[in-house]
Amino acid sequence: MAKKPTSAKALELCLLGNPIIRKEAIEVESIKSKEIQTLLKDLIVTVKKVNGVGIAAPQVGRSVRLFIVASSPTIRYPQAPKMTPLAVINPKIIFASQTIVKGWEGCLSIPGIRGLVPRHESVTIDYTDKTGKKVIKTFTGFVAKIFQHELDHLDGKVFLDRLDTVKDIITEKEYIKQMKTNILLTKGKEIK
Ligand SMILES: [Zn+2]
Repeated sequence: MAKKPTSAKALELCLLGNPIIRKEAIEVESIKSKEIQTLLKDLIVTVKKVNGVGIAAPQVGRSVRLFIVASSPTIRYPQAPKMTPLAVINPKIIFASQTIVKGWEGCLSIPGIRGLVPRHESVTIDYTDKTGKKVIKTFTGFVAKIFQHELDHLDGKVFLDRLDTVKDIITEKEYIKQMKTNILLTKGKEIK
């Protein structure tokens, strides 16, 4: 009997409260291993299934330093720019702009809420791609926010840790309601 081909599958999400979300992840050593390559493919399937724009390995129970950035307009983020999903392995921020921009973020591991999170407007990231090639690239705006959010996951941090005040937390239901009437769009402002 022919062997059934293995195909990428959606993985179960780990939610806030699961200790792995608060654990510092370890460096990936064998990028080309079947284990890591399968994980990357499964993460892409998972992030698309749940309408995310990024997902980090600890969010599916794997405490290793890699994530997927997959910005695309979804129900959760209608303004997101479209890009080919990018696998980011062992990333480091080597430069961050002084300009801080506050924007609304959600997290697949913290369903039902959004927070107004201050982030660097642009970041330069040193990482390894899925083929093992070293990359240094600068990202700005929404995609820069995704990088900072996902990189935090590798250090056991979540967006709630970055808020200036807990008053900057709102329910996702209210977020969607207010977004439709554009109330929130004027609230994200630039700070130094
Ligand atoms: Zn998250």
